[in-house]
Amino acid sequence: VEYAKFREECPLCQAVEQISAQKKSCVIETDHSVVIVGPHQLYSGYCMVVCKTHIREMHDLPPLHAQGIFHDVMRIGAAIQQVYNPWKINYASLGNQQEHLHWHVFPRYESDSNHLENPWKNEHEFAKYTTTREQYLKVESAIRNVLTAKC
Ligand SMILES: [Zn+2]
Repeated sequence: VEYAKFREECPLCQAVEQISAQKKSCVIETDHSVVIVGPHQLYSGYCMVVCKTHIREMHDLPPLHAQGIFHDVMRIGAAIQQVYNPWKINYASLGNQQEHLHWHVFPRYESDSNHLENPWKNEHEFAKYTTTREQYLKVESAIRNVLTAKC
């Protein structure tokens, strides 16, 4: 298993590196992951948990790393629930297009007419809701505040 190797061409490796070097902000950085605000806010509060190492399959993670990152994903879900009070959280880890392990944590709202469908059912609307710098900072600090209050 190729593990922990930085890939120059991988946007998620680049994001992790920039956050670790404090050149880019994030919701939270743990031993195992960085959490960033999603690229759109069609679903208010949408975040992504990105593994700190370039690995394709979650079953290839060393067990302690797997436990740690699962804990991170759950913490973010709980924090989004607390801040945004969605109807449901959708956790998605597919990796077909980005072969660097990550989770999309999508808050879903009953007001969304497609709320029984998977989040990409509304993909045609994502571009209309591209996350602005202002939204990014707002979501980031709202979730971070909840996380740090619980530590
Ligand atoms: Zn990568």
